[in-house]
Amino acid sequence: MLVSLKELLSQCQKNKTAVTAFNVYNLETILSVNQAANNLNQPVIFSFGESYLDDVPMDLIALNIRFLAEQSDQSMVLHLDHAKNLSTIKRAVDCGFTSVMYDGSHLSIEENIKNTRTVVEIARKAKVSVEGELGYMNPEDGSLHNESGAVDHSEFTRPEMALKYVTETGVDALAIAIGNAHGLYQGEPHLEFSVLTEIAALTDIPLVLHGSSGIPEDQIKKAINFGICKINVNTELALGAVESIRQSIKMSPEVNSLRYEKLIRQTKADLVLLIEKYLKLTRN
Ligand SMILES: [Zn+2]
Repeated sequence: MLVSLKELLSQCQKNKTAVTAFNVYNLETILSVNQAANNLNQPVIFSFGESYLDDVPMDLIALNIRFLAEQSDQSMVLHLDHAKNLSTIKRAVDCGFTSVMYDGSHLSIEENIKNTRTVVEIARKAKVSVEGELGYMNPEDGSLHNESGAVDHSEFTRPEMALKYVTETGVDALAIAIGNAHGLYQGEPHLEFSVLTEIAALTDIPLVLHGSSGIPEDQIKKAINFGICKINVNTELALGAVESIRQSIKMSPEVNSLRYEKLIRQTKADLVLLIEKYLKLTRN
């Protein structure tokens, strides 16, 4: 069934658990996420990024996910990821998304608060949840924001700013920067748990960890214990699908030995396994 992010995450907060949000780019990724969630009897979040709009119409994605969610016994959220434009948010609300993320993390805190309030106002009327972001991370495609790729502590979410942002905007969930990054990590990532603990104590809101691909399991589990209710996985699927395709082609190098429909079937099967791995991490 289709539910709002707020509904799902409030359960997680109560039970000290988390739900995984997987980025979906097309029908194959949607079907893989749906199958894995149904296989393991777990809730899931379908995350569609504003940056994919050039590739596929939002309405089409929404129709597919809504259809599958309505057939499923599992709680499923249709979520808009990293939207920087108000027009995209309005479209998502009209398409039946049950959650939107407004990403104003690149703006000043005042501007971020002002814009997020507008988003909350629009979303509330349609009973759509809002995720905000505070603290700076590198771009969603995993590109680096400085030459070394090192995580900059000055860009971590500041707990007192998080409190101000949450209080003044009324968001339902907050994405934070505590050493997490989009894309592949340069060396082993280290989450700053003292910052997480402080934010969780001050804000009492479900917290979101972007860039969870590649974070060691023990750190993810600890983060969930400390207040993370949603973990975002994108890179591992994006790269995993390509690796699957690479292997299929390697095994059938001759023209006419591999058909597209067979390739898709194998990629979906490989993606389901990857998705299940992350779903098991957030199991009760
Ligand atoms: Zn993100």
